Amino acid sequence: MRIYADNAATTKMSKAAIKAMIPYMDEIYGNPSSLHGEGQKANEALTNARERIAKLLGCEPREITFTSGGSEANNQAVISAARLGERKGKKHIISTAFEHHAVLHTLEKLAKQGFEVTLLDVHENGLVSAEQVREVIREETCLVTVMYANNEIGTVQPIAEIGAICREKGVLFHTDAVQAVGHLHINVKEQNIDMLSLSAHKFHGPKGVGVLYAKKGIALTTLIEGGAQERGKRAGTENIPAIMGMAAALEEACAKIEENTVKLTALRDKLIVGLSDIPHSALNGDYEHRLPANVSFCFEGIEGESLLLLLDDKGICASSGSACTSGSLDPSHVLLAIGRVHDVAHGSLRLSLSEENTEEEIEYIIKSVKEVVEYLRGISPIWRDLISGKKDFIIK
Ligand SMILES: *Cc1c(COP(=O)(O)O)cnc(C)c1O
Repeated sequence: MRIYADNAATTKMSKAAIKAMIPYMDEIYGNPSSLHGEGQKANEALTNARERIAKLLGCEPREITFTSGGSEANNQAVISAARLGERKGKKHIISTAFEHHAVLHTLEKLAKQGFEVTLLDVHENGLVSAEQVREVIREETCLVTVMYANNEIGTVQPIAEIGAICREKGVLFHTDAVQAVGHLHINVKEQNIDMLSLSAHKFHGPKGVGVLYAKKGIALTTLIEGGAQERGKRAGTENIPAIMGMAAALEEACAKIEENTVKLTALRDKLIVGLSDIPHSALNGDYEHRLPANVSFCFEGIEGESLLLLLDDKGICASSGSACTSGSLDPSHVLLAIGRVHDVAHGSLRLSLSEENTEEEIEYIIKSVKEVVEYLRGISPIWRDLISGKKDFIIK
């Protein structure tokens, strides 16, 4: 048995998305920029996908730019706002300490180019408040970028309120909504969002395709030079199959938000209750303002990577939410941002569900995590120090 509980990393494509792609790999393979009939058919598909996606976000088709995914959309949004600000002598950017690296690394680059970046502290419940933004926003601020929902701990930020402050102050507001689109109701106009990034593979669409929504009037900076595709803002022959798959996946996800939320919240809560039984464990991030499918825990006295490998042996795909991937042993910047100390942050586990998960799977996950945590603590020198009283527990 294999149980997939890593949907924040990527999702399985839906049947509807796959079905929507096939004709554009098979019969309708023209280049949308070609003038002949085959090209025009592809171009019609592009127009059609743009209209459908715009409708679901509450914007106009021309405010949609197709990208290679969430990372590119984030890069383009932040760089565009920075370039626009620079021209007016405004070189201050506000963001948060727990953004995705596609935003954080772009901000680091801009900081080297003379931009001043204020990263808001994240409260220990994994939230930033609109008030925090108000406190640091100033005359020279050209951009506020705050993620909609965090990919590791699942906390959902007060986006409409932050957007309202930005509107009031005349500052551009971007949100990395990659974890939120298709899972929460979003309307860019009602929520005062000027720019938004999304990625298809986080809502059962294909990988390598996403969208940057930018309110009309915002001049985007071109990251990829070449042809005049995407109104000259993103060169390269459009990935029509992927774009059609994304439109189909988004329509399906949005149509099922209510139904999925009910189902997922029940599974999530069962998992949270079950894992809370483990001594010296703590849920990461606020319980109330949380994605319906996200469970994130820290278990004191263990090492997340071993936990993941042993869970994999038991057939469970999970994630630590930590950045141990590139051989670096630094714990997750997100967990550090919410005030978890290094030792505790190392013992993290993220389980991100999908509507395909079942109650039986949740029961099996709870049982398995309990066994593995107990086993790892049994062989952990840190745990020995904790129970012998040599070291104090941080999670009581
Ligand atoms: C996955 C993710 C991204 C990156 O999206 P890609 O399409 O994989 O480039 C950016 N931000 C968040 C919050 C994500 O979860």
